[in-house]
Amino acid sequence: MKIAAISVIPLRIPFSIGPVVPKSGGKPWEAQEIVLVKVETENGLVGWGEAFSYSCQSAVVSALEDMVVPLVVGSEIDEIPYFMRKLQQTLHLFGRYGITMFAFSGLDIALWDLAAKASGNPLCKFINEDAAPQTSIEGYSSLYRYGDVELVAAKCQASLDQGYKVIKLHEINEPEVKAARDQIGNTVALTVDTNCPWTPAQAHDMALRFKSYDLLWLEEPIFPPEDFDALAALQKDVGIPLAAGENLCTQYQFQQMLSCNAVTYVQPSVTKVGGVTEFQRVAELTRMHGLKLMPHSPYFGPGWLATLQLMAAIPDSGFVERLFVDHEASLYGNFIHPTDGRFRVPCEPGLGAEPDPDVIKTYRL
Ligand SMILES: [Mg+2]
Repeated sequence: MKIAAISVIPLRIPFSIGPVVPKSGGKPWEAQEIVLVKVETENGLVGWGEAFSYSCQSAVVSALEDMVVPLVVGSEIDEIPYFMRKLQQTLHLFGRYGITMFAFSGLDIALWDLAAKASGNPLCKFINEDAAPQTSIEGYSSLYRYGDVELVAAKCQASLDQGYKVIKLHEINEPEVKAARDQIGNTVALTVDTNCPWTPAQAHDMALRFKSYDLLWLEEPIFPPEDFDALAALQKDVGIPLAAGENLCTQYQFQQMLSCNAVTYVQPSVTKVGGVTEFQRVAELTRMHGLKLMPHSPYFGPGWLATLQLMAAIPDSGFVERLFVDHEASLYGNFIHPTDGRFRVPCEPGLGAEPDPDVIKTYRL
């Protein structure tokens, strides 16, 4: 396929979480930032991707427009992994983790959307034609950090009321974890994502305390996230399953983490890791190491659909992460809403559904 044009479209869709305004990247987080990457081919096909952009939206837009788009428009792309490898090589001096990789991810997702559309298949069928794709994916409610036991209990109950059977907290103190477990009882799976708050010694102490609440996993307990030896020691010493991966890009960083036995749950994030191309490689590494895939997916744009399509194609691909938040508008109608805790996988060619042009028009920056 020959690439005729690429548009980079930043959106900002307000959301409500409740009485607490969480922070992202040190700033109040009150709206969903989405960077759409719209790629058009010479024969008129349109593909959509999403680049991670929370609290870094203008930087991601600049990376795409200044560094990536000029290298892609006019290119003939026959094999996406080969093309993306050349692109990674050309721009490797700008970082193998972070803004540049987020930008690549957005492009890569759009290219896979295009390739699947050209074949007439949804992405799940296009990348794994032998498998019978799943038609819906079990979701989990990913709560914000409220730091308030009553709010935690209320949000847990609201999640159960929506049919979720797995709940994730983002709390870092024991009383909130206890409040959640007390609210949901012992039959609902509970996980805790801490977002890298502790030293290895602090993490050891906290993991011992959290262990009594029977967590399915403890996520990113140590800073820096790439201290894989410390994660491995923690998992082994405390005997608590760990999850990590949203802060890693490319198969190579995952290979390092997995070869250290650092985690039980592997969490590639399609809008960060390098798109569908790298996500598939991470899924294969996960399978080869006998570990469990558990994607990072707090997304509401093409990154959400790409995650659903990948999970539909990959056997035993875990639960899909859904931020527990109400948006003013949805790019994809009800595909972001659960039914009895599960999410439908859209089945049109490509990512399976097209973004709503009115929502793009209304929320475009
Ligand atoms: Mg996380």
